[in-house]
Amino acid sequence: MNLKTPGLYIHIPFCLSKCLYCDFYSLTSISAVPDFLDALFKEMKMYHNRFDSFDTVYLGGGTPSLLSPQQLESILISLKENFNLISNAEITIETNPADLHQSFLESMRENGINRINIGIQSFNEKVLGFLGRRHSVKQAISAMEVSRKAGFHNIGLDLIYSVPAQDIGSWLDTLRQAVVFSPEHISCYQLTFEAKTPLGIRYQTGEFPIPGEELQYKFFTKTSEFLEEAGYIHYEVSNFARGKEHTSRHNQKYWDHSPFLGLGPAAHSFQCNQRWWNHHSLDQYLVAIDAGTLPVEETETLTIEQLGLEALYLGLRTKKGISLQDFKNQYHYDLFTEKKKILAKLEEEGFISIKDGYLSPTQTGLAVADSLSLI
Ligand code: SF4
Repeated sequence: MNLKTPGLYIHIPFCLSKCLYCDFYSLTSISAVPDFLDALFKEMKMYHNRFDSFDTVYLGGGTPSLLSPQQLESILISLKENFNLISNAEITIETNPADLHQSFLESMRENGINRINIGIQSFNEKVLGFLGRRHSVKQAISAMEVSRKAGFHNIGLDLIYSVPAQDIGSWLDTLRQAVVFSPEHISCYQLTFEAKTPLGIRYQTGEFPIPGEELQYKFFTKTSEFLEEAGYIHYEVSNFARGKEHTSRHNQKYWDHSPFLGLGPAAHSFQCNQRWWNHHSLDQYLVAIDAGTLPVEETETLTIEQLGLEALYLGLRTKKGISLQDFKNQYHYDLFTEKKKILAKLEEEGFISIKDGYLSPTQTGLAVADSLSLI
């Protein structure tokens, strides 16, 4: 029985244009927003008896900042009608810098949204062009300024590194510009080339080389060094917080097997040992809801071994690591005894540390966290 409070994710599947690296599900026309919202409210009702309270809400996508203040308000009203939102709940919205204006931001705050995540990606015009972002550096800077002015005290930035059009120097310039605003949270993602995206296809046809392993490692370590020196805690492979209180409470749920409900097309959910996900198509989603059925595409039941492997993979991506005793209790596997030899070797080589009952990656270990979980 999982007693952790669940989180709620809502996928808003609309973007004005598609970024060249993106493989998230979204449509580039907003004409179906009203139909989507009607269906979303019905989906909330369908889960009304299965989920009771949430202490985090994440409006993601897609680009939730494309919705009007009234539409965002209607989502929060419907949410409160169907579920209990715990009083200090973290309510985050993902936004595009081009959409952020003072009155819009103020209305978001009035609606109870208390955390804003801004998809800045880079403060370099050439890099933004390569990624196919629809905003400019000027808009990114203005988005930061206006978010503070509107009274947001919990601002997160998303940035992307290891871009072919970028060298270490220009990446550090982006980080320098980012910390000028003292955002509470910074996520730094390494660019990946997903097969069916325009950038993925161009890469496969040999149009440009991508940074090799050594350079990728340099990007990672320089990022970590720079942001730690600037006062940020590197608490997960891609995430940095200006103090423990600013770590993402919602993302933590994905990393520690807390339950979460995902609403909207392509959204994923997890509860006990079950994971399910919705149709990756707005049309199919609308048809299912219209027929009075859950828009679920597939459900999988995870064995205790699968859950344990996932917990190992996710836990070793966090600085805190894994509590060996909790792991033993939850997954009936004594990591410390069963993997004694390999753990001793990894500790000797400086990839992990075992201290106070926790198995944690070192700074070097974080850079290769995904391989560490293969022990
Ligand atoms: S704004 Fe986000 S979801 Fe939309 S296309 Fe760009 S990366 Fe994808």
